Amino acid sequence: MRLLLLALILSFIGLSYACKGNFNPYTTTIGQCGSTDRTDWLPTDNAPVLTPANLDPAELAVHEARMDHILAMGTALKRKFVASIYHQNGTLMCTGVNMGKPNIISHGEIVAINNCTELHGITVFTNYTLYTTGEPCAMCAGALVWADFKTVVWGTYNSDLLCKICMSNIPMDSAYIFGRSYGLRSSSTTLIGGVRRAQADAFFGSYCSNPNSIYYIQPKCACTPQ
Ligand SMILES: [Zn+2]
Repeated sequence: MRLLLLALILSFIGLSYACKGNFNPYTTTIGQCGSTDRTDWLPTDNAPVLTPANLDPAELAVHEARMDHILAMGTALKRKFVASIYHQNGTLMCTGVNMGKPNIISHGEIVAINNCTELHGITVFTNYTLYTTGEPCAMCAGALVWADFKTVVWGTYNSDLLCKICMSNIPMDSAYIFGRSYGLRSSSTTLIGGVRRAQADAFFGSYCSNPNSIYYIQPKCACTPQ
């Protein structure tokens, strides 16, 4: 009986000290693994996301005007996910709208990238900024990292799209993906979230009482009263 009790206490202590994953900074080599090593990813923080409060007024005004443009496009076309791509010299190069065509992965960002390639032959987007009404989903964030965008700007956050607006989405902040660009290159994308946030949130509206919508899903989110 005493042994059983001891075993229980020891396993309880073990559990309380158990970490997520097996990363131990004192015993892990960071870098190229040897042929007999067990390999794992480097624990990585999400990328930082700037907000309008972090920007100087002149820069913010430029982002707001460009966000207004795609929100107006979406309103006119009755489509929610619209993206635009600007050269760093300020030229609007192309736009993209999620029309559900030619297939279900034709999100605004992907359409805009493909339009820029078709129209202008752009294959890498190092000198470009992408604007999107809604934060890039996990798929698009991955595409934007591969495309090497200099800056990505969005209106409504993924967490709000799923948790408050009841639109189906992969429950992941794009900053999770953008924070892992070190696997491709040393430079990283500047992220600016919540530009014209109130207007963008109102533009998306709410699908929570519209379960017949193609966008609708019942959210499963962790909610904290503020
Ligand atoms: Zn997407």
